[in-house]
Amino acid sequence: MAPSSGEALNVAPRPVFWEELDFLGLDKLGWTYPHSEAPLLWACDRRYFYKGELVLEVSGGDLFENHSFSHISPQNITLSPIDIESLRVANEDSLFLLEHEAMEFIDTEYRKYKAVEKAKQVNPDIDFQQLAENLSKKQKTQYAVVKEDCDSFDVMPIDEMQAKGKSAVLKSKIDFFVCSFSGGKDSQVILDLVTRVIPEKDLVVIYSDTGYELPPSLELYEEVKEFYHKQYPELRFFTSKNKQPLMYYWDKMGAPSRVLRWCCSIMKSAPLAVLLKELNGGEKQPSAILFDGVRAEESVNRAGRSRIGKNAKHNNIINISPILDWNATETYLYILLKGLPFNKAYRQGFSRVGCVICPYSSKWSENIASKIYPDSINPFIDAIRVSLEDAKTAGVENYIKIGKWKERAGGRTVKCESALTFVEEGVDFKAVIKSPREDVFQWFNILGETKCQSTASETTGVLNYKRNLYKYRISSLGDNSFGVEVYGTNNDVVFISHLKKVLYKSTYCIHCEVCEVECPTGALKVSPYVSIDTTKCVHCLKCIDFDGKGCMSASSVNISTGDNRTKMQSTKSGINRYNDGMGLREAWLKKYFSNHVNFFNDDSHGLNPRYQIPPFINWMREAGILEETNKSISEVGELLRTHFATDSNAVWEIIFINLTENSEVAKWYFSEVPYGKNFTKQELEIMIQKSYPDLKDRTLKNPLNSLLNTFKESPLGDDVPVGVPTTVARKPGIIRKAHNDLSLVATAYSLYRYAEKTGRYSLTVSEFYNPEQKEGIVRQFGIERDAFEQNLRSLEQDNNHVLRSELKMGLDNIILREDLKSEDILKLLL
Ligand code: SF4
Ligand code: SF4
Repeated sequence: MAPSSGEALNVAPRPVFWEELDFLGLDKLGWTYPHSEAPLLWACDRRYFYKGELVLEVSGGDLFENHSFSHISPQNITLSPIDIESLRVANEDSLFLLEHEAMEFIDTEYRKYKAVEKAKQVNPDIDFQQLAENLSKKQKTQYAVVKEDCDSFDVMPIDEMQAKGKSAVLKSKIDFFVCSFSGGKDSQVILDLVTRVIPEKDLVVIYSDTGYELPPSLELYEEVKEFYHKQYPELRFFTSKNKQPLMYYWDKMGAPSRVLRWCCSIMKSAPLAVLLKELNGGEKQPSAILFDGVRAEESVNRAGRSRIGKNAKHNNIINISPILDWNATETYLYILLKGLPFNKAYRQGFSRVGCVICPYSSKWSENIASKIYPDSINPFIDAIRVSLEDAKTAGVENYIKIGKWKERAGGRTVKCESALTFVEEGVDFKAVIKSPREDVFQWFNILGETKCQSTASETTGVLNYKRNLYKYRISSLGDNSFGVEVYGTNNDVVFISHLKKVLYKSTYCIHCEVCEVECPTGALKVSPYVSIDTTKCVHCLKCIDFDGKGCMSASSVNISTGDNRTKMQSTKSGINRYNDGMGLREAWLKKYFSNHVNFFNDDSHGLNPRYQIPPFINWMREAGILEETNKSISEVGELLRTHFATDSNAVWEIIFINLTENSEVAKWYFSEVPYGKNFTKQELEIMIQKSYPDLKDRTLKNPLNSLLNTFKESPLGDDVPVGVPTTVARKPGIIRKAHNDLSLVATAYSLYRYAEKTGRYSLTVSEFYNPEQKEGIVRQFGIERDAFEQNLRSLEQDNNHVLRSELKMGLDNIILREDLKSEDILKLLL
């Protein structure tokens, strides 16, 4: 089936049809092939294979320029269509297993949630969940509701349930089982699988029309409706679409980019949630299971996702991805072998059929779109051109050609009259708003109850935020500008962050509806203007906590005047790689050190291979224990392993030093979180959000949770107190405490790592205690000066003479040996 020329292939093969060959102009270069329904070739990216041999390689091509051929042979090749029947024979067994595993998974999830309804129907007088809760309390062991055979239900201890191989009926009531359809091959497969499992009356299919749709996707949707209605006449199809045209948002927010990707939220997920709310009567956001065609192979971000994502994009929506592990070839095969409707765009050469223009689209797909669908893509290209010209950007055409617009991270090219400036954020809070688009007082309601009185030029009042009363004053400064003052904020980072988000919303709101669908009670309406029903608002703040600025529009216009924050760079391999919330656990490390040779070769470690092994490998690499490129133990790892049994705390100290160098979240923590102060998890979330303003709160919760989990599950929490878990007023938190028992080996290792980084081997004690210092031993461990100097004296007297220190007569010099590396310190002192 797939190419077998021995080429190293990094991408799954895709079928190639005559339409793509015509587009490439091969019919005019002597190639002969029929206009068959079946594909003619297979391609991996832009390398085309016929009967296993590489026959063509295409390069170049973008919005303005044509492609060229890097390899073409032979010029007069004659192609015959791929024999679908032989394909079927060769693949039907493996495909059968794949599709039935996915269907079983869909069925299990459907039944789990559907059972909640059934439990109520079977015996409306028995509240099984309440019964389970009462028994759990009384018996002091966890009980669960379990579905038995013949539609009956039972309540039993979880241990017993697991021993019987049963699973618990979930508590959440689900209002809709939804299949999301986008016109792409993956959503085509998921639609087919889901309709084969879930009764048609229980399912709704939602097509998200983003306003960027490729024409063949719209045509396919009509064909798909007809195709499935013939089989399932009661299956309901709906189209979700934002109330405003796409260009309205381009105008107000600028073109979406890889950093400011507002389009998916505003044009796709929010309209889908709004539609569900309307279908549910319009009052409250319903709960839904959304089956999607997400596949791990598609992107690095998706690779770490699990098959079930609760509240991944919106509260109340559980995303289920049954074909997460399928590769592209498998989805193509499923469609071809089942004879399902197929998006014509794939036949034309698009490898992905998302939107006609996208910050993630390749130059190649832009090339095809510009040639075949110029009327669809050109209005967007023109809009980008106009905004760049208005912003006096140099070299506009080249900027567009190389896709530089896709990297936009700020609002420089967006015209916006409104502006927000933060003036003070300490004892009191002060800000100035110019030309606000919405009523500040309306948005204040989400923070708590407010009372106010107004004169012609100002409004004063009191805000009750979490049972603390804050006086505020909003005064007119003329020229449609307003001063906002809130007194007694006392550096409360959580309150100040919420205040700022409310002001961002008031200043920049363009009624996109993204925050409205986050509201669980139906209190918030944003269209045609913002209103908050104070009788329904429970001040949960879900309408501001979904985004770093609490507002899609503010984030895209990205004005942060006076917002003095440490901005840290985020990369794909950086802070947003921890998409699991799991940390480096002592129990796992012990297992690894006791069986490191075979650890990854068998499953005796007991870790879940899908959810626990990948984050464990990441952490182990960042801890310096595993090699960067494979799963072998590193030289440092071997030294730590042999020493672990005799002094595990010193090993954890070295691990922490390595993490502060290699792990972006640990680096952030050790350089930004001060010592001796208790921080709640919520405060840490706000602090990390400030450091990474371009990333969403949700994205940042994962790395933070992973780090907190490391502190909880390892000696780094208590014995080496770099992150001691605390509870204040029933809120979990963390405090960094001075670690004065730091081992000599960790002291020297940290100094040598610092020297390697700075290129200086003559250091001073004071430089580590400089309040501006963001690196080094004192930031890492908070060690007090006396303890540090004592360690330096001991190291000087050690037989290995790894350093000299001059600590008398007002001197505080540390002289390291330039012939030693940090690894040598471990060899000498461990
Ligand atoms: S999301 Fe929460 S805070 Fe916002 S309006 Fe709804 S109930 Fe109020
Ligand atoms: S406040 Fe809400 S509705 Fe208004 S632009 Fe921001 S996210 Fe959209």
